[in-house]
Amino acid sequence: MDENFVSISALQHYAYCPRQFALIHVEQVWEENYWTADGRVLHERVDSGVTEQRRRTRYERGVMLISQRYRIQGKMDLLEIEQGTPPKYFPVEYKRGKPKTEDWDRIQLCAQALCIEEMRTVQVGEGAIWYWEARKREPVVIDDALRTATIAVIEGAHALLASGETPPPIEDKKRCKACSLVDLCEPMAFRRDHSARYVEDLFSNSAQARDGDE
Ligand code: SF4
Repeated sequence: MDENFVSISALQHYAYCPRQFALIHVEQVWEENYWTADGRVLHERVDSGVTEQRRRTRYERGVMLISQRYRIQGKMDLLEIEQGTPPKYFPVEYKRGKPKTEDWDRIQLCAQALCIEEMRTVQVGEGAIWYWEARKREPVVIDDALRTATIAVIEGAHALLASGETPPPIEDKKRCKACSLVDLCEPMAFRRDHSARYVEDLFSNSAQARDGDE
């Protein structure tokens, strides 16, 4: 992996929480736990690299992706190419869990679409995410709103990697509760320290202001 490039699979971490992205990709505190996750087993299963042709559709698995424009690279689970003029390119990503209301997974799929468009000079209008737990294939439209959100995440991830600084925890406590890095991140301890420091600063600033008035 070129260090000037961001891994496509890392974009969902940034979209979920920039601190989670930094813990994983800057501090690399995750290694032991992260790669033992079920998700990796699932991807190993679908990532056979075998190409198949069924009627008018070719199925390419484990396709390597790169975008020089956005400096992202990675591998996609499945690319379906339906014959036609022009042919229809349809990325499919496999996920362990269930469909989400937030765009985290869709952003990863859209980043794959951006790579395919650049690599094969085509347009990708839609794709799908297959959710293992829900046994459900969720269609995803690669529209302007999703493209804008994805490009913003890519730019944010590049900026964070360039700064090398881990941001503070997000405010969304519910998301922290569901985060696999909550024990390493300790968001509650960080928030406690931060608010204690804030109160200290507040008192010391008012004391300084009082001294200045005397
Ligand atoms: S626990 Fe919360 S702040 Fe920490 S990495 Fe996870 S989501 Fe981000």
